[in-house]
This record gives sequence, structure tokens and C-alpha cells, in this order.
Amino acid sequence: MTELEKKQAQVPVPSGWDYAPAPEARDIVRIEERYGHFVGGEWLEPRETYTTISPASEEPLAEVGQATPDEVGRAIEAARTAFENGWSALPGSERAKYLFRIARILQERSRELAVLESLNGGKPIKESRDVDLPLAAAHFFYYAGWADKLEYAFPNRHPRPVGVAGQIIPWNFPLLMLAWKIAPALAAGNTVVLKPAETTPLTALLFCDVVRQAELPPGVVNIVTGDGRAGAEIVKGAVDKVAFTGSTEVGKAIQREVAGTGKRLTLELGGKAANIVFDDCALDQAVEGIVNGIYFNQGHVCCAGSRLFVQESIYEDVVKKLKRRMGTLRVGDPLDKNTDVGAINSRAQLEKIRELVASGEEEGAEVYQPPCRLPERGYWFAPTVFTDVAQSYRIAQEEIFGPVLSVLTFRTPAEAVEKANNTPYGLSAGIWTEKGSRILWMAERLRAGVVWANTYNRFDPASPFGGYKESGFGREGGRHGLEPYLEFD
Ligand code: NDP
Repeated sequence: MTELEKKQAQVPVPSGWDYAPAPEARDIVRIEERYGHFVGGEWLEPRETYTTISPASEEPLAEVGQATPDEVGRAIEAARTAFENGWSALPGSERAKYLFRIARILQERSRELAVLESLNGGKPIKESRDVDLPLAAAHFFYYAGWADKLEYAFPNRHPRPVGVAGQIIPWNFPLLMLAWKIAPALAAGNTVVLKPAETTPLTALLFCDVVRQAELPPGVVNIVTGDGRAGAEIVKGAVDKVAFTGSTEVGKAIQREVAGTGKRLTLELGGKAANIVFDDCALDQAVEGIVNGIYFNQGHVCCAGSRLFVQESIYEDVVKKLKRRMGTLRVGDPLDKNTDVGAINSRAQLEKIRELVASGEEEGAEVYQPPCRLPERGYWFAPTVFTDVAQSYRIAQEEIFGPVLSVLTFRTPAEAVEKANNTPYGLSAGIWTEKGSRILWMAERLRAGVVWANTYNRFDPASPFGGYKESGFGREGGRHGLEPYLEFD
């Protein structure tokens, strides 16, 4: 045997084309054993606590406060004091400095925040690293730019801040939703009390450290944690504006509570978006868009393209290509840099997905899941697609909020519009075609706040986002996103 042959014999022969594990290091994050509420720039020792876990391993991560009515009240008082004692009167250019500082710190600490987001929420690290964190920082940069230009944004309307904003956010994009809420509120001169979702409080709590590092005056940002009871206390409390993102059911309850109080309200609720594929589209690109539309963030996305409408002539082709592409999705450890689909956020959400998937099978749809080995511990659900779906099936009507796609067909653009609009929701839609005129024709007729053309799930802080019908009202992002936080003459 030659020297070269000897060396070659020692090299392990690859047995397959599996990806080697590529875990992101966890040690950049320091998680405290116990967290209080962040009130008036200080940590308030909580009277009650609960344990927040990692949904990928069910491992406990920290003890977190369950805010009592009294604790929520103190947070609102702190926000009121900060509003009256200087923040609202600060020149816009000064407020902008703080927002720019927060944006830069988010960028500097992005790896730490991304790892924590994936640990606590179960989303793949490549998504928290490449989507959530850059977008969260971009929102602060964007609104920092508006803080001293409100008079130009709303000429001759003399904009003034509303006061104290109570903000309640969900678990699917914890830090990004925080940025969507806090950045415009502060730019407009308001102070805030924010509650993250019960299952994902940790990045909001780490954000308190960012706030301190940016030397934001105490009380401008207050964070209380806990379940829906804490959210309900914020809504009832002495706030001037409520901003909520979450389920339509809770959104409606909040609307009832706020009715007649004079409090401002914006609601960003559920969706059941149509992703519409015409036979003249770039098919492979469309398949990528379909996959991104529904399997991004495990389908825990309010604007997920969960109803796929395929023009009949290309139905077989699309389904074949889609199934093949689904087979390449890697499901598993959220902290592995190769993972495409991470853990389901909570046991309750997993149960909900299972229940809706079972209903799809019972109603007669055909289910497909690519072969994939799911981890034993934690909450997991394989990427799933349903074919032979009728519009009346629950899987075509209800928000599943998981990696589950329903495929339906259409023949003409008019039929596609009619079917796409046949939902109580109206948050987003996607169109795949090479014809610009058809995109415009469709976009005009689709009752959706956002319509993507030849792409999906694209976000930009300069672009307003929000819904029609049961998807809520009010817009976040862009100049429109400032308006709910301002009073005018
Ligand atoms: P919720 O609407 O219950 O949660 C959203 C936020 O509201 C959380 O912070 C929650 O706290 C809080 N909350 C709950 N009840 C109240 C209340 N009565 N008053 C004020 N705040 C309250 O959504 P879920 O987490 O229960 O998810 C259920 C379904 O909602 C999902 O399966 C999905 O279909 C949909 N959803 C839609 C989202 C979207 O972006 N459109 C986001 C999240 C969910 P807590 O976390 O403790 O419950």
C-alpha cells in the first residue's frame, strides 16, 4: 500500500449525505434563575412566578413573574410618571438618539438575543439570526428617523403623543413584535407597558438590559410578564392606548373591554392567507415561496400562506415538486444552524395542530408528511401538506398556526379571487405569475392587507402591515404605524 493509499484508508468514508450537527454555542447567553418585572427602570420582585421552558427539550430555563393586578398598576404608574416628567416633552431629535442607540445595541448583541430567542421559543437559529434580529434592529433604526420629523410626516395636523401605551404581544416573533410595538410608540413620544407571551418572555426581559444600556430614562419602557390575566389587567388599566397582536378571539374580548372607554386600540389578529400559483409562474421559484410561506417559523406566522391555490393545469407538477422539496427540510434542534423547521412553541399549540390535522383527515383530505425523525423530547410536528381539500373543511377555514398546508385548485383568476376571499380573515396573500397586469388585477381584488407578488413573507419596517375583517385593524410599520400613537388637532 502506498503512503497515499494508507492515508486514504484512514479517512472515514461518508455513509450518506446527512448534515453533520452544527450547533450554535449557548454560552453567549446568561439566563438568570429568576426574573422580576421591569418597572420604572428597576427590577420589581414578583409576588408570583412560573417556570419558562425550552419547547425543544422541555428543559426549565428560568422562573419568571406572573404579574398581579397591583404589579401591572405599578408599571402603568411608572409609565405615566415618565411620560409626564420629561419624555413626552423631549425634542424629537433627543428621542431619536435613544432609539438609534437601542438599534445599535440590538445589532451588537444580536447573537446573544438570537440564541435566547431560539432557546425559549423553539424557532431555528438561522431564522432568529437572519430574520428576527436584523428586522428588530431595523425597526428601531427606521422609527428613530421619524422621531424628529413628525410634523413632516403629518403636515398641518400638529401631532402629539397619546400617553401610555399598553402593548400585548404573542409568542411567534417575541423580540420582533416587541420592536414593532415599542419603536413607533417611543418615536411618537409615548411611554409603554409591554407584556410578552407567557411562553416566550426571555428576550423581552433581556431587552430591559438593552434599555438600561441605552440609558433610556426610567419608566419609558416597562415590561411585565405573565399569562393572559396580566394582559387583561393592562387592557383594563389606566392606559391611553392598547396595541394587541394575537388570536382573533382574545382580540374581540379586548375590543369589548375597551369599547366606550376612549382608549385607542389597534388589533393585529389571525390570518388564513391564500398563496395563489398561476400556470405561467416560475415554478421552482414558486415552490420555494410556498415552502417559505408555510414552513417558515413552523407556520407560527399570522400571515402564513396556509391555503395554497394552484391553477388546475399545473396541479400535479406543483404537488410533486412540493413533496420533493418538503423531503429536504431538516426538522430538529432549533440551535442547529442547519435546521429549517424547529420546535412547536408549546404543548397547547401542538395539541391544537394535532386536533386540526385529525379533523382534516376525518373530513376526507389526503395527508402527506415527508419521512423525518422527530426528537423524542419536546414539541414537534412534521411539515404536512393536505391535498383533496374542500373549501368547507376546517383545515381550509381555521388558522392552524403550524406547519400544515392545505392545497386547493382554481381555473380562472376570478375563481382564485373568489376562493381566496372566502375566509373571515384578510391579512395577506401571495400571487405567482409572470404577468404584471395580472398581479395588479388580483391585488386590487384580494381583500388582504398585504399582497406579495412572486415572493412571500417579506418584511420591511417602511412598509405598513395589518389586516381586514377578522384579521384586525390599524397598521404597524411605515409612517402609518406612527398614527395610532399620535393625537392630532
Ligand atoms: P392569544 O391571543 O391568547 O395570545 C396573545 C397574547 O395575548 C399573549 O401575550 C397572551 O398571553 C395575551 N392574552 C391572552 N388572553 C388575554 C386577555 N384576555 N386579555 C389580554 N391579553 C391576553 O394567543 P395564544 O397564544 O393563545 O394562541 C392561540 C391561537 O391564536 C394560535 O393558535 C393562533 O391561531 C393565534 N395566534 C395568532 C397570532 C398572530 O400573530 N396573529 C399570534 C399568536 C397566536 P399568554 O401568552 O399568557 O396567553
